[in-house]
Amino acid sequence: MILLTPGPVTTRPEVRAAMAHDFAPWDDDFMPMHASVRDRIRALAGGVIGEHVGFVLQGSGHFVMEAALRTFMPRAGSILIPCTGQYAERMARLASETGRRVVILALPQDRLMDPNAVRAALDADPSISHVGLVYSETSTGIVHDVAAVGAAVRAAGRRTLIDAISAFGALPVDMAAMPECDAVVCTSNKCLEALPGLGFCVARVDRLERCSRNAESWCFDLADSYFASLAHGWGSFRFTPPAQVLNSVRVALDFLEAEGGPASRLARYASNMGVLYHGVRSLGLSPCLPEHLQGPIVMNVHTPAAPGWTLCGYVDALKLRGVVISNFSCTEFPSMRLGAIGAISPADAQWAVGQMGDALGRRAA
Ligand SMILES: *Cc1c(COP(=O)(O)O)cnc(C)c1O
Repeated sequence: MILLTPGPVTTRPEVRAAMAHDFAPWDDDFMPMHASVRDRIRALAGGVIGEHVGFVLQGSGHFVMEAALRTFMPRAGSILIPCTGQYAERMARLASETGRRVVILALPQDRLMDPNAVRAALDADPSISHVGLVYSETSTGIVHDVAAVGAAVRAAGRRTLIDAISAFGALPVDMAAMPECDAVVCTSNKCLEALPGLGFCVARVDRLERCSRNAESWCFDLADSYFASLAHGWGSFRFTPPAQVLNSVRVALDFLEAEGGPASRLARYASNMGVLYHGVRSLGLSPCLPEHLQGPIVMNVHTPAAPGWTLCGYVDALKLRGVVISNFSCTEFPSMRLGAIGAISPADAQWAVGQMGDALGRRAA
């Protein structure tokens, strides 16, 4: 069975096997392991020792995104969120639930985010302190240029918070070159290919030191967590961690390194995506994005016009054939989505295209 979804993703057996070991979190085995995962995540984000730190948090992507919003945004602050799709809308909901003012920048969702539009929105509203960016918009499949938009935000003297949840581990992240960025957020079970259950944040130390009063939460306060780790050790956890999942992250990071790092992983995902993109076309289906806009993480496909076709029926038919796809659509029009990420190869993607054709009763042309 393979997961052809943009998270959760297929994991390697060695990564799953790493769960079969119990730890006490205050133990001499666990603490150095946790400390080293924090540092490896920081390094993957292009963070600089002394300038940036990595955090490991219990929970999924939404949890750690909430922590970043609560920690770095002033309580009376305003955040501009360019609306690239459903994941940007989720960030807007998280920010407004914390009581922050949200300013939505409406954008065409089938195009790259325009840095000039972001700059104009910032110039029009001096009360905005932060811009919330989704790097890889998992609802559309478009990968946005966070470096270019970040440069516009920097020029306007504001700060960014970046949701890199479906990007991190494959697409490049260089925090050293983005001084306007307070925090980058990601999770264990997307491009890092570990088990789900943990979120990560890489954040600026100077900002953490100045943001110790914002969060109105103990669990979601990264500044509190930072000061607690200075006091109790870099490998300490404030609350009981899913230690087994963290051990799976350690093994998954070893595999990422062995593969050649994020650039090599990105190349594999791009090959997977090429196979899926051309494969669905050969089945007579049409991708929703033109090829030059299609990112390497997830694609949407217009649903087949065949009479009686339903997404749920198709999902079930594919599952019987060993392929799991999302059972919901992320677009305003009917579509199905296919993920190209996880521990799968272009050969797996090719096999999956064959199963998709079989379940449609069609053969690849
Ligand atoms: C998956 C995803 C999330 C949400 O992550 P959960 O782990 O489901 O909470 C947020 N943003 C983006 C861009 C994602 O791809």
